[in-house]
Amino acid sequence: MSISDLNNKVRQCRRCRLSLTRNNAVCGEGNLNARFMLIAQAPGEKEDEEGRMFVGPSGKVLDELLSEGGLTRHEIYMTNLIKCTLPKYRRPKQDEIEACSYYLIKEIELINPKILVPLGYYATKYIFQRYNLLVLPRSDFRSVYGKLFLIDDKKILPLPHPTALLYSPDFKQDMVRKYRKLRVLSKDCEWFPVCPMRRFYQEGKLDKKWIELYCKGDWESCVRYQMEERGEYHPDWMLPDGSLARELVR
Ligand code: SF4
Repeated sequence: MSISDLNNKVRQCRRCRLSLTRNNAVCGEGNLNARFMLIAQAPGEKEDEEGRMFVGPSGKVLDELLSEGGLTRHEIYMTNLIKCTLPKYRRPKQDEIEACSYYLIKEIELINPKILVPLGYYATKYIFQRYNLLVLPRSDFRSVYGKLFLIDDKKILPLPHPTALLYSPDFKQDMVRKYRKLRVLSKDCEWFPVCPMRRFYQEGKLDKKWIELYCKGDWESCVRYQMEERGEYHPDWMLPDGSLARELVR
């Protein structure tokens, strides 16, 4: 199935009750070869009217946050967990998520992005469940925003939903800091070519997860990187999280 076949199905979808109250089912859009796939919750009022992703005030906020992350919407693919608007912005019901996530799963297969970026609680909860990552109470979800997770051939970077800024402008600084992780994840660590972690990995002594999570992932959070930048001594056998693994040099 091609993405345009899938989008035609979305436009005509009657899999759940939300088809009765929508104006337009909103298909995913953006770069089909994107490294990042942003997954929002559901279309808002304006998106439902126009049948497009992130238009109106939420679109402005998204563009601003993306630019903090060094990206434009032409470089990413964006979609929703639920393709039809939720009446009066109510919470999505479990059966609606089950019915509609069929399309998201297909989109992930077709676009095959390296990094999934679920936005906000429902999208993050769904992706965590889908990939058997973490089961968290709702109150703990804030703690995972801006952190990188690894599953098989994909990375997951949950971020707060951009519309949160429309209601709570005080979060802006924190939100900007988290969206800047997109910039970090757009390139490898500058120390990687000469880092002992690369050598240990090539020698088969180091698990790939260290390379994917730090050197080719969130290198900004790597303790080795931070010490390197400060010009501080750190032994070759220090792992990116700061723990010591002397067996690497035996
Ligand atoms: S271990 Fe840290 S410093 Fe070394 S390449 Fe990876 S991220 Fe950079």
